[in-house]
Amino acid sequence: MGETIIPLADLRYAAAVPRVPRDAPAPDGLLADRLGRPLHDLRISVTDRCNFRCSYCMPKEVFDRDYKFLPHASLLSFEEITRVARVFIAHGVAKLRLTGGEPLLRKHLEVLVAQLAALRTRDGAPLDITLTTNGSLLARKAQVLREAGLKRVTVSLDALDDAIFRRMNDVDFPVAEVLRGVDAALAAGLAPVKMNMVVKRGTNEQEIVPLARHVRERYGRDVVLRFIEYMDVGATNGWRMDEVLPSDDVRTLLQRHFPLEPLEPNAIGETAERWRYADGGGEVGFISSVTKAFCRDCNRARLSTEGKLFTCLFASRGHDLRALLRGQRPDGTPYSDADIAAAVGALWRERDDRYSELRSAGAAAAGSGERRVEMHYIGG
Ligand code: SAM
Ligand code: SF4
Ligand code: SF4
Repeated sequence: MGETIIPLADLRYAAAVPRVPRDAPAPDGLLADRLGRPLHDLRISVTDRCNFRCSYCMPKEVFDRDYKFLPHASLLSFEEITRVARVFIAHGVAKLRLTGGEPLLRKHLEVLVAQLAALRTRDGAPLDITLTTNGSLLARKAQVLREAGLKRVTVSLDALDDAIFRRMNDVDFPVAEVLRGVDAALAAGLAPVKMNMVVKRGTNEQEIVPLARHVRERYGRDVVLRFIEYMDVGATNGWRMDEVLPSDDVRTLLQRHFPLEPLEPNAIGETAERWRYADGGGEVGFISSVTKAFCRDCNRARLSTEGKLFTCLFASRGHDLRALLRGQRPDGTPYSDADIAAAVGALWRERDDRYSELRSAGAAAAGSGERRVEMHYIGG
């Protein structure tokens, strides 16, 4: 079955320079958006580049040799990222996730991790710093990242079968090397490792049980496998609803082989529904972004590689924080952290995003009609 691939001439997104309100209240960690949702989690994309070409994210036909990735000068520096993180922490953020593109392609990422690890939450506690990676470079980097202060890691792996995996990453990358990365992460003390499998009907659903079995047998409780519904992010992956395998179906299939029991969520706003193997063999998760929208508790903001803030994964417009980081007030002086915090606070108070809920209600096509942001650019 052929996929509809939509080529795009330019994948940059509209972003307005945020307003810096005068007399904004100082951040007190109690910020809430229009639906009462706090700001808890900041996802930071450190590169828009990737060494994989997963068809559901960066189809080769679009992200080819001619594709223009962001030039280095437009990327936020580590110092700029750390400054933004500090502002978000003042507003209550306690969890940072580094993502991409492939975050381990960003040179010296451990230096950024160390800078972020030196920050403290409003209560003086260390931050929860985690990273989502395709695992290809993890065997080399796990130890140094852990030493720099990384707390946890999520590794994406869509199949155990080598041929299927090589086809899905579309660069002929072997499964064994990703598993070596998982082993290295565990050896470095990054357990429990989360493993993300995007399930695409007709592509890798036959891998659900083998991968679950492998993870149970080889890693037990040290790796939590999470099944992600294939999402309609961006505009290039030719998404179709009939290629989504609902989490309920995945769970039913799994339960035929391994009885499962539900678990309570760890935290409000958690994306995965948690279940455990009844025989004590570990935990699995289901991320049902398509069939069970979880917008009601969505407390996540996303910072793109070039410093645009997105308040929803399905947004088409960002807010250009880099313009504040590098720009000047009308009087010629640089913007202060307090100015940036005031701008972020105003944006979050205005937020009413709930794309997935609207999609479920049949109204999501009712977006603005503008092109949505791509996953490799904003991170998962
Ligand atoms: N390159 C890293 C990786 O693959 O883990 C980090 C970035 S990637 C965009 C983050 C997560 O988004 C991955 O787990 C990936 O599988 C997931 N993802 C990408 N496109 C998706 C889609 N269309 N539907 C569901 N998940 C998707
Ligand atoms: Fe790269 Fe991750 Fe997207 Fe795959 S999902 S193309 S590994 S950014
Ligand atoms: Fe959050 Fe937007 Fe996803 Fe809803 S659709 S859960 S608001 S990122």
